[in-house]
Amino acid sequence: MSKLTFVGTASAIGFPHMFCDCETCKKMLETGGKNLRARSSLALGEKYRVDFSPDCYMRFLENKIPLYKTEHIFFTHSHLDHVDADQIMLRYPKYNKTSPLQPLHLYGNNSVFERFRGNEKQEERIEETRLNFRRVVPYEKIVADELECWPIVVEHDSREECYNFILRYRGQNIYVGYDQKKMPERSFEFLADFELDIAIFEGSLGDSQPGETHMTFGEMIELKDRLAAEGSITADTRCFATHFSHHVKYTHTELEERLEPEGITPAYDGLEVEV
Ligand SMILES: [Zn+2]
Ligand SMILES: [Zn+2]
Ligand SMILES: [Zn+2]
Repeated sequence: MSKLTFVGTASAIGFPHMFCDCETCKKMLETGGKNLRARSSLALGEKYRVDFSPDCYMRFLENKIPLYKTEHIFFTHSHLDHVDADQIMLRYPKYNKTSPLQPLHLYGNNSVFERFRGNEKQEERIEETRLNFRRVVPYEKIVADELECWPIVVEHDSREECYNFILRYRGQNIYVGYDQKKMPERSFEFLADFELDIAIFEGSLGDSQPGETHMTFGEMIELKDRLAAEGSITADTRCFATHFSHHVKYTHTELEERLEPEGITPAYDGLEVEV
């Protein structure tokens, strides 16, 4: 048995937002527990991660998933909540006693890799830090030991090519639907060939006004319904929502009341799903 862990379940601003005094943020701080959400990322077993947020260290202290065992990280795009390159560079041998240091394979677009080459000093350290960059090609399969991954393009930030991932791991198909406003037809067509065991959607905006770069719950449910109509989502697919912000307004209990009738389980930090 292996586990898919929701390491964090908030959007870039965190939920609650540290600079915000709105009623929602105050309420989440007061109620605590599942209402305290770090920035989003996923761990799959010990070897695999999707994205690496600035809060991975804090969650490591709590869930104790050792990061030295991570061998592959798939990056959806370069936004701050998904790539904390400076913290990954702390693998540099001068700061790290792991011996021998194993390679860490990083998959993403050029904007992601630029985050690691912040300055000359960092650029020089990449080899010794044993980072292997691999520029992904949309819809082309990546084989990472016992996992297969297909990046599919989504509309989120026009300055870079942003991806969702389909992961095949231990015979299960997992769709990771991080940051997006919209899925292009090409990606729908590609997804239609996969019957999903697990589907993870972003619900950054909740039931507030639609935005330019993220989804409301209405848009998220529309996406789920279309995937169901095309056969990717069946009655057996386990569906989750994540990447919440204070626009969502709901506590975790209210989120359950809102989303469970739609067949979607709201994730919380530390939620583990068997795969
Ligand atoms: Zn994000
Ligand atoms: Zn707020
Ligand atoms: Zn983003």
